[in-house]
Amino acid sequence: MSDRKVRVRFAPSPTGPLHMGGVRTALFNYLFARKHGGDFLLRIEDTDQNRYVPGAEDYIIESLKWCGLVPDEGVGFGGDLGPYRQSERKAIYKQYADQLIASGDAYYAFDTPEELDQLRKTAEENQRVFSYDQHTRNGLKNSLTLSPEEVKQRLESGDPYVIRFRMPENTNVTEEDLIRGSVTFNTAQLDDKVLFKSDGMPTYHLANVVDDHLMLITHVIRGEEWLSSMPLHILLYRALGWEDTRPRFAHLPLILKPTGKGKLSKRDGDKMGFPVFPLLWKDPESGEYSRGYREDGYFPEAFVNLLALLGWNAGNDQEFFTMQELIDSFDLSRVVKSGARFDPEKAKWFNRHYLQQKSDAELASLFMPILNEKGVGADVTKVEAIVALIKDRCEFVSELWDQGNFFFVAPKSYDEKTIQKKWKPDTNEKLQEIAAFLGTLTDWKAEVIKEKFSAFMEAKEWSFGVVMVPIRLALVGASSGPDLFAILELVGQAESINRIKTAVAKIKTA
Ligand code: GLU
Repeated sequence: MSDRKVRVRFAPSPTGPLHMGGVRTALFNYLFARKHGGDFLLRIEDTDQNRYVPGAEDYIIESLKWCGLVPDEGVGFGGDLGPYRQSERKAIYKQYADQLIASGDAYYAFDTPEELDQLRKTAEENQRVFSYDQHTRNGLKNSLTLSPEEVKQRLESGDPYVIRFRMPENTNVTEEDLIRGSVTFNTAQLDDKVLFKSDGMPTYHLANVVDDHLMLITHVIRGEEWLSSMPLHILLYRALGWEDTRPRFAHLPLILKPTGKGKLSKRDGDKMGFPVFPLLWKDPESGEYSRGYREDGYFPEAFVNLLALLGWNAGNDQEFFTMQELIDSFDLSRVVKSGARFDPEKAKWFNRHYLQQKSDAELASLFMPILNEKGVGADVTKVEAIVALIKDRCEFVSELWDQGNFFFVAPKSYDEKTIQKKWKPDTNEKLQEIAAFLGTLTDWKAEVIKEKFSAFMEAKEWSFGVVMVPIRLALVGASSGPDLFAILELVGQAESINRIKTAVAKIKTA
């Protein structure tokens, strides 16, 4: 690494909600910057106004904040090398397009969209693909084929044009990608990309290279889909005279569907019931919602942890990482080349881990709003005690209610199968006696109840196996749940007795 300060950027286009793959790109950039004491920038690449989606930029910023990936510079974060939104940098790019024309590395092209469409169509009819490139450019309407006078006249009269890169002929471009190793492209396969349009807007390629240069970017860490743009970008740096300070490249592997075949898409999430976006997104046109990790109840720590392991590992079998641990152990050389399969079950498993890590007080404070929504009031200390009993059965905070609702409201029904199996002809009678006995206790603590109850059972010569499930059914409505004596304590003496009596009244055996 050179002695320049490490500067990396996340450069999304605001064309919709940020995919989880985009968040992973941001995360790897962030980790790399932090690890090397460098800067992490957010640049919004919105030169393609046709693809602009309102709300997408705010969504990107909120997603980064939720994940704790706060940029040092960028849209919404300040910085000395702004503006960081490309649509606000319009005036900057033209001079570089002009420079490339002057050096002969680019040319004006006047072919109309209709003419190009026709060429595409004709090529298709002959089972070929039309490409504006070194093989075709000499037969097309551009400043390489038209006379200088005609070019001048067309420009002066305001004819629409584009500026295209003049791809060098049949040249190998080799680059040492920091993840993929040596990659070679031959320019004979590459087309003459449009760099600039007569409406004054650069395309992605020119704006991206110019901005990375002006923003002193040292490393471009981005998704694999941009690998094919790398030779053009490298040639642009060369043509602009910036070869010495150009960034190094690292192309991250794709995130694959749970089946391992093909790129993970929004449709996979819809089909299999998991989010592919960090936050809930409402499409401004269709009004359609796409679920998000945040709204689905994932903790940002879990989301970040699972993303980090999509294509990277620490070289050992460590799976849980705090952000600091990720920063300390992150290394681009440990990012894999092949696609990383996303496993939605593992995502839940990560969330489960982070939920278990939370203190009972923190979980109680997350549970309280759910209780309010359900219309049940409860004392915080009691909620903490309840949370402690049930959290190990939960992957998400919302499940605290599924697992613990009976602490707050009496069961409305009883599990039929358990009744069939465990409700004997003498169960009601026994429960009535137990209810009466429980009413005599003066110290309503789980250990005390347990001790006295055991003595009572012994005196009666009843076996635990016969009455425990019916009592549980009366209190919970189901045969599962945490320790019965803990339930009794937290449900409270009067309410427990009440529930047992209600069950006796409701459950009749044949
Ligand atoms: N604007 C591109 C995107 O949406 C950025 C690619 C790059 O990082 O160069 O992903």
